[in-house]
Amino acid sequence: MSKDAPGQRLGFLKTLASMDSSAIVPTVKWSFRIASIAGIQVRIHLTFFLLLGFFAWIYYTDGGPQAAVDGVAFTLLIFLCVLLHEFGHAFAARAFGIRTPDITLLPIGGVARLERMPSNPRQELLIAIAGPAVNVVIAIAIFLVIGGVLPIHEFVLIDTASGSLLAKLLFVNVLLVLFNLIPAFPMDGGRVLRALLATQMRYSTATGIAARVGQVIAVLFGVASVTPWGGPMLAIIAAFVFLGAQQELAYARFRDAAQGLRVGQAMITRFRALPISLKVADIATSLAESSQEIFPFVDERLHLHGIADRYDLEKASLALPPEAAASSVARTLPTVNPETGLGEALELMTESSKSLLPVVNASGQIVGLVGIGQLAELSASKQPGLRI
Ligand SMILES: [Zn+2]
Repeated sequence: MSKDAPGQRLGFLKTLASMDSSAIVPTVKWSFRIASIAGIQVRIHLTFFLLLGFFAWIYYTDGGPQAAVDGVAFTLLIFLCVLLHEFGHAFAARAFGIRTPDITLLPIGGVARLERMPSNPRQELLIAIAGPAVNVVIAIAIFLVIGGVLPIHEFVLIDTASGSLLAKLLFVNVLLVLFNLIPAFPMDGGRVLRALLATQMRYSTATGIAARVGQVIAVLFGVASVTPWGGPMLAIIAAFVFLGAQQELAYARFRDAAQGLRVGQAMITRFRALPISLKVADIATSLAESSQEIFPFVDERLHLHGIADRYDLEKASLALPPEAAASSVARTLPTVNPETGLGEALELMTESSKSLLPVVNASGQIVGLVGIGQLAELSASKQPGLRI
């Protein structure tokens, strides 16, 4: 789907959600699968190896080859903790019937890609809290193992080869909990705050307040980053948090705009449909007559017989015999009717990973197409909730 416009429109959502740990994002680029656990793919980003190399190097300069090995082991253990954190989110989501197709480990942390966002604030709260809760459990377990009597300086020697590995890992887990509970998007704390607020008010209003809190925190981080205690890392986090708040707000407005409307109010009604009798030989002519990216196949009574995108049709016109039916490349998509709520249509799109759905009437005739592009336009013109 990478070549069609609805795919690009989906890019709107991808950008909105890309920094969020429970996001409607596609598989992260430059990542590859290392395992599959409980039906969830575990992927690792290529840049992760740069981080391994970096830790190996700083440990090596500090304590030689053995220290370098320890450095790599330490980094891998940190990421095991991050991975378990993400599984915390994924299993909590599963308890509410939300699938997690994959978890990707990036040098800056992990991303669990949830199939959809829960619309119930209590569920969102539990999913958000489940990640940090895993790190609390790990920290307590390490604390019990090492006896908990280590001097404080052992905890802070993260970037040197000295200090007990477990003590440092305990410190990392405490840091992961504290960092993730900062009440700002895209951290888990931002979702916790929003979910708590959303039990009392509209979702978009709750998001507006949570986003504003996040932006105040981002500004404080920004100011702190130029003080002697700050540094470039804090400035990066500040920017990250500021953008996270804006994206979350845009998504909430988008969802809110979709909520009160029906598919019939947003669908495209002017589009070109292809007859199921169309031969592969005639595909090129049909494509040349329209700039459309998605084509429904219909019979003479306008009943829908599947959908094909431009890219698939172009491929078919080169690969299949000229006499073959062009509709052989058509696929079946879930359909909605004009009375379906836009919010429901959006959920159906994210669940089926489609950026466009055919709209059919009660007798099965296609009457329109509804896509993420139309939803985005609607949310831009109707912005409920707080303005910040
Ligand atoms: Zn998390």
